Amino acid sequence: MLTTVQFTCSDCAQTIEVNDEMRETILETGCPVCTTAAAEDDFSTA
Ligand SMILES: [Zn+2]
Repeated sequence: MLTTVQFTCSDCAQTIEVNDEMRETILETGCPVCTTAAAEDDFSTA
């Protein structure tokens, strides 16, 4: 079963549901919308 977490950008406030793979990608490359760097704290289980 895939773990889904919710990413909320600290800069643009965009909320996106992501799986583990997308989570890793966002941690590496930043917010998909505004490219602001993401931190572990920006992810929460829905
Ligand atoms: Zn953003």
